[in-house]
Amino acid sequence: MSVGPVTPESTTAPSSDNTAVGLAPNTQENTRVDLLNFTWSELENLLQSWGQPKYRVKQLFRWIYEELETDFNNMTDLPKALRQKLCDEAAVGTLEVESVADSVDGTKKILYRLQDGLRIESVLIPEEKRNTLCVSSQVGCALGCRFCYTASLGPGRNLTVGEYIAQYLDTARMLPADRSITNVVFMGMGEPLVNFNNLMQTLELLTDERGLNLGRRRLTVSTAGLCPQILQMGTKFPVRLAISLHATTNEQRDDLMPINQRYPLETLFETLQEYRKLTPTYHMPITLEFTLIEGVNNSMADAQRLAKLAHSIEAKVNLIPYNEHPGAPYKRPSQTNIVKFRDELQRKKIRATCRTTRGDDIYAACGQLAIHGPEDEGVSTAEAPEPRVVPHHRKRRN
Ligand code: SF4
Repeated sequence: MSVGPVTPESTTAPSSDNTAVGLAPNTQENTRVDLLNFTWSELENLLQSWGQPKYRVKQLFRWIYEELETDFNNMTDLPKALRQKLCDEAAVGTLEVESVADSVDGTKKILYRLQDGLRIESVLIPEEKRNTLCVSSQVGCALGCRFCYTASLGPGRNLTVGEYIAQYLDTARMLPADRSITNVVFMGMGEPLVNFNNLMQTLELLTDERGLNLGRRRLTVSTAGLCPQILQMGTKFPVRLAISLHATTNEQRDDLMPINQRYPLETLFETLQEYRKLTPTYHMPITLEFTLIEGVNNSMADAQRLAKLAHSIEAKVNLIPYNEHPGAPYKRPSQTNIVKFRDELQRKKIRATCRTTRGDDIYAACGQLAIHGPEDEGVSTAEAPEPRVVPHHRKRRN
């Protein structure tokens, strides 16, 4: 199986390039600038180019990220003329919520339509102390992992910064006023490190203390193992890292995840050692995600090799029982076999947890990112870190 393109690509060029922010040209409606593509300093520049004082950015950030406002007419401390210009030329987000599926366990799967008609999904996983949002990074994915339904959608396009941030804000608006999204995991459709530049800018916006103010430890990027980009992220913007490992030998992994042919296990684990050296002050252990597939990777020998790999980088292991979906060639192991595998890791002193499958009934569980419903699947969700601090509360207008 060939490996898809793995070069980081930026599709974001705030304000000047509408096609780059996912907006089709030629109509007044869709040539608006999506303000969610802009960092603080970029928005400052845009406002200055409109003859506005710098401090307007503070007002706009407050309306967008604290009040969760989308209607410029309601931004009452902005001058009328600026409000009118914003109404005419800008937008706060471009996603359209097409449907929301609610699971009996509280998980919500949100299907969005993008401006170019493509669709993506986010999954909200509410728990007692935290609300974790799993966001998509691309429409489809070129990496071709054999167990993943998103791969069957083929290579799509990178999401823009605005499309990343809108997944957060649109979901935040669905929560009761006293709840916030506390954790974000980049484990939805697509490989986030292929969308490297937009991912970095999104992390910057999510953590900006003048805006959403999320701590780095509450953000997790999951990758199939793009080694150069892992190191780039370690240098540029380290956050929690999760590796979709799913196999313990190169032979097995070459077959399940073609990216391994480019970055085999030895290279991947050397890279992870380096990543740890680059991020010593953050104390963020790496997570190895391991989907258990009956008869493929769930033998005791697999558990022992996995323990050895985890020890080498002091990683914890998150076991994910394979989520079967229509047409899937693989089977989920029995509960007895799952427990045996986990116990073997724990016997080897590995911190191993077995992910509770959430949203099974709405096809929102890991590997089931559904685009059209049960016939056409696939989403990844993940274990997310407990928030260290109580999330900030936002005032809501309604
Ligand atoms: S598991 Fe991740 S990297 Fe692999 S095909 Fe699916 S979305 Fe892409």
